[in-house]
Amino acid sequence: MNIHAAVLHAAGEPFVIETLELEPPRDGEVLVKIAAAGICHSDWHLVTGDTKHPFPVVPGHEGAGVVQAVGAGVTDLQPGDHVILNWAPSCGHCFYCLHDRPSLCETYVGPLWAGTMLDGSTRFSREGRPYYHFSALGCFAEAVVVPRPCCVPVAADVPLTVAALVGCAVTTGVGAALNTAAIRPGSTVAVFGAGGVGLSIIMAAQLAGAGQIIAVDKAAAKAQIARDCGATAFLTPGPGLIEEIRARSGGRGADYVFEAIGIPAVQEQCLAAVRPGGLVVLVGVSAMGSATNLPGAILTRQEKTVTGSYYGSANTARDFPRFLELYRRGRLDLDRLVSQTYRLHEINQAYADMLAGANARGVILFD
Ligand SMILES: [Zn+2]
Ligand SMILES: [Zn+2]
Repeated sequence: MNIHAAVLHAAGEPFVIETLELEPPRDGEVLVKIAAAGICHSDWHLVTGDTKHPFPVVPGHEGAGVVQAVGAGVTDLQPGDHVILNWAPSCGHCFYCLHDRPSLCETYVGPLWAGTMLDGSTRFSREGRPYYHFSALGCFAEAVVVPRPCCVPVAADVPLTVAALVGCAVTTGVGAALNTAAIRPGSTVAVFGAGGVGLSIIMAAQLAGAGQIIAVDKAAAKAQIARDCGATAFLTPGPGLIEEIRARSGGRGADYVFEAIGIPAVQEQCLAAVRPGGLVVLVGVSAMGSATNLPGAILTRQEKTVTGSYYGSANTARDFPRFLELYRRGRLDLDRLVSQTYRLHEINQAYADMLAGANARGVILFD
């Protein structure tokens, strides 16, 4: 079948809309018609070159849609099922899968970064030339073929815009707060970056019973949405930022500090903002090859812990439904995150708006 997709041909170039051929699903694969795809910073890393990837590539890794067809061997999904796409498929039997760390799956890590399906080939092509899938997906397209483990079924009454966000920003943020950090009630939390991921951390911190939640973002326009999501204070970066966070936490620093941007200098500030014995969680993806200076003298003497959180340390088959149940019960107000919608041909504008800090989350809607 022919589909429209937003394609990147090289780093530094804009997205272009092209008509591609999409092969039917092979053994163990699923054809999904995309309903909604979120505008996430991780796709932008392909544009800047901070993430290395084969070109041409169809980006888009935060999506939800409706199953159209299944390949041989897929017995537990049928046409018409609504699914959230998981960008970290897992095999269920490798070392990491068996140790409850499916987002680190060894079976899929190679194909994921090669931009292919598990068999090393792509389902997108144009005139015989392969077009690569970002993260086994490529949801900036009207339809995609993905490995079965990328599909997490969702009830048909969940809006597919919200479902798409659960596929990346929500799970990354809520998972960082509830899975990775396991925030304790009454604690003080600081969150650097109030985009879709940072706002999800803020919502989950409130859900976990945090006492104070201090949001930090350079875009002052984020103050209202941050407060609406549960922040008790909103600060913009400046010379007195760390002192201000300490002043609000008994002079010691916050119990938990989350970095939801991916900038080494900000990661270093997070270490300064956390109290002795506290936890820094690095959630934002930083550029490949970048380095962060986290002084051992302070880590040791002050027993500060720094940890990474990838995809919210989630088991997506368990956590997508878990987080949607919290949404259903009004405990996570995920509708609030969708601040602007676009059509596929408006994707370059959608990314310009993301970079300007205009949106909680922008979402591309398909027919
Ligand atoms: Zn993402
Ligand atoms: Zn595995």
